[in-house]
Amino acid sequence: MAQVRLGRITLHWCRTCNVPMLRQRPCGLCGAEPSPVPLTPPGDARPAFEFDLRLLRERAEEQFGRGAGGRLLPDGRIVLLNRIPDVDRTDELVSDGTVLGNITYLPGRGFQLQLRMVGAERLGAPERGWVVADDGALPSLLRSSNLLGPGVLDASPGIRPGDEVVVLSDSAERRVVAVGAARMTSEEMVSRARGAAVKVRSRLESRTTGGLDAVLRSEGEPSGSVGLVSSSDWGEVVEANRAVLDAEARRATAFVRDISERLGLPVAVSYSGGKDSLATLLLVLEAGLRPKVLFVDTGLEFPETVQNVISVCSALGLELLTESAASSFWRNLPRFGLPARDARWCCKCCKLGPMTRLISREFPRGVLSFIGQRRYESEARALKGPLWRNPWVPGQTGASPIQNWPALQVWLYIFSRFGAPGPRVSGSTPRHWGPGPALEKTEGGNRREGGPSGLGWNPWYERGLDRIGCFLCPATNLADFELVRGFLSDFSRREEGPGGLDGTASLAFSSAFTRWEEALSALPESWRLYGLWRWRRLPRGMKIYLAQRAPMSEALPTPPPVLELVLEDERVGDGGLWTQKGRFTRPLDLNALSNRLIPLGRVGAEAERLLVGDWAEVHPEGGVALRAESVERLQRLAELLREAVLRAEGCAGCGVCVGRCGEGAMTIVEGRAVIDAGRCTSCGACLRGPCPVTAYGPMGHSEI
Ligand code: SF4
Ligand code: SF4
Repeated sequence: MAQVRLGRITLHWCRTCNVPMLRQRPCGLCGAEPSPVPLTPPGDARPAFEFDLRLLRERAEEQFGRGAGGRLLPDGRIVLLNRIPDVDRTDELVSDGTVLGNITYLPGRGFQLQLRMVGAERLGAPERGWVVADDGALPSLLRSSNLLGPGVLDASPGIRPGDEVVVLSDSAERRVVAVGAARMTSEEMVSRARGAAVKVRSRLESRTTGGLDAVLRSEGEPSGSVGLVSSSDWGEVVEANRAVLDAEARRATAFVRDISERLGLPVAVSYSGGKDSLATLLLVLEAGLRPKVLFVDTGLEFPETVQNVISVCSALGLELLTESAASSFWRNLPRFGLPARDARWCCKCCKLGPMTRLISREFPRGVLSFIGQRRYESEARALKGPLWRNPWVPGQTGASPIQNWPALQVWLYIFSRFGAPGPRVSGSTPRHWGPGPALEKTEGGNRREGGPSGLGWNPWYERGLDRIGCFLCPATNLADFELVRGFLSDFSRREEGPGGLDGTASLAFSSAFTRWEEALSALPESWRLYGLWRWRRLPRGMKIYLAQRAPMSEALPTPPPVLELVLEDERVGDGGLWTQKGRFTRPLDLNALSNRLIPLGRVGAEAERLLVGDWAEVHPEGGVALRAESVERLQRLAELLREAVLRAEGCAGCGVCVGRCGEGAMTIVEGRAVIDAGRCTSCGACLRGPCPVTAYGPMGHSEI
C-alpha cells in the first residue's frame, strides 16, 4: 500500500471529445466539463505508445482469439496505463474514460490481461477463453459467488488453471455475465467436476436493477462496446489540456527563475536521458537560462540513452559536461555482491561518486542543479520537496520544477513542444506543432527513434519501458527485464545494433549485457526466475507470492564475513586516562592502512604496529588499543577508528569522500582513495559523509 502515501491524482475525461484531462477544467476543444475516472492511487497514468498497444492487442488475441485485440482496443482511441502496486508490473488499462482491466506480469508466466466487465463486454463471445454457465447457476453467480464446476454447460478447449476466461450466459445472445480466472481445465469444466471452475473477479451487477431476466434479455450495446464514443489523438489531448499545460509551465519556469536568483549559484541540469529530465531541461530553457548539462555515464546505460543525451544537447546548443564511472561496477561487484533495492551501492559508486567528481571539478564553489524528480516516483522523493541537498553529492543543491507533475502532464508538455506521437485520426483538425519559445533556434524536428541528431525522447519509452535507468538496475521489474531481453534478441537475430546506433556503442553495451547475464546465470534458477537477487531482505509481498506459488529451498552462497571492530568490555581508568582493547575481525594490511588513517591524526609505524596520534595503536593481526580522558571520548574514538579502517579496507574508489575534502588532499588512484599527508589538516570531513562501504558492505540474503 506504499503507493497510497504518494498522494492521489484525479484523472478526468472529456466524454464529448473522448480525451483525458489533467484537471477538472472545461475541455480546451469543446468547453464541456470533464468527469473523474476512478484510478487506483496514486493514479500516475502515462500514455500507451504503439508498442504498448501492440502488446495489449497481442495478449487479447492470444487469450481470447482472433479479433479480440481490435474489439478491446479499437484504432484511434487514447489509451493510458496506470501503474498500480503489485508483486511485479501491473498497469490499469484506461480508455474511453473507463478502466477496462489490468495488464499484469506474472513471473514465470508472462503478461496477462485481467479484464473488468466493461473490458470483457467489448469482446462479446470470444473465439476462445469462454465458459458457458448454466442458467441455474447465474443467480448465485450474479450475487457474487464463483462459478462452480456443476454450473458449467460448456467451455472452450485449451483452458488451463490460471487462464483468464469470460463467463457467458446460456442464451441465444451469449451475453458476457462475468469474467475471472479459471480454476480447472476445460475438460474438468465440461465434465462438471466438483469445486470452483472460475474465480470471478467482475460480474454484471450495476445494471441488474430490472432483475436477472431483464439483464439476460436486454438488447442493444453492452456498456463496454465500441462505437459509443468518438476517436481522438494525442494532438487533441494536448489541445484539450493546453490551458493547464501552459499555466503549469509558467509556474515551473517562475520557480526556476526564483530559485536561481535566490541562490546565485551557477545553474546546471542533470540530464539522465529520461522524460522527466527532458521536461526539466526544456523548462529551464523556457525560464530564459542557459544551463550546462551534467551527465554521468554509469557504464551501464543503454546506448540509446547516451545517444539521446548527446543529440539533445547538440540540438539545443548546450554545453555537455560528463563524467564516467568506467568499470567501477564490475570492479566492485565481487566486493559488494549483486546490487539490490535495499543495497544500491551501484548508485553510489557509478552515479553519485562520479557526479561528485564532476561537480568538484567544474563547480568548486557549488552548483544549482535542476533535476527531473517527481513526488509520484517513490516515497523518498515524495518526502524530499522541490529543493534539497544530497548528502552523497557535496556542492550540489538539487531543485525540481516538476516535483508535483503527474507523468501524463510531463508527457503532454513534451508533446506540446515536440509534437505528438502516433498517426493522426482522419478528419481531425490539422495542427501546427511548433517548437516552444526556448527551442526556436534549434535544428531538427522530433526524432523519437534516437537517431544521431535532433530532439526527441528516449526510444526505450516506445519499447514498453516507463522508467529508464541502468539496464541492470535492481529497481527494475521482471516485466521490463523481459521486454529488454526480447528487444535485444530481436536485434541480434537481425545482426543490427540497437536503435541503429553506431557499432562501438552497441558493441560495448552488448558485451556489458552479456557479462551481466553470465553473472546472473551463476545463481540458482529460482533466484533468476523470480529476480530474488534484487533484495537483500525480501519484502513481505514477495514472500507471500513465493509461498503461494513456488516453495523455495535454493539458498545463495554465504558472503564473506563483514569486517568489524569488537571491543572488549573492560575499560581501565588510571590517573585520569581510560584505556580499552579490541580487535578487528580479520588481519589488516598496515601499509595500505597507514595512509587512510591520516585524517585521524599523525600516523607513525613502530615495531610492526601503527600509532595514531597519541590515542590508538593498531596491530597487523587486527588488535587495537585505545586511550582517552573519558569513557565517552573512548567510544567516539573507537567509532572513528572503525569507520576509517572499514573505508580503507573496502574502498570502492567512488569519489564521494573526495568531494568532501576542502583541502584537495584526496584523489582516486587505481580505484582507491588516497590522502596527501602534506595537504591533509585532519579535519575529518571525509569521514563524516556517507560511504558505500559502510552503508552497503557484503550482507547475506534473507531466508526464503
Ligand atoms: S572511502 Fe571514499 S572513495 Fe572509498 S568508497 Fe568510501 S566514499 Fe567512496
Ligand atoms: S577531508 Fe581532506 S583535509 Fe579533512 S581529514 Fe579528510 S583528507 Fe584530510
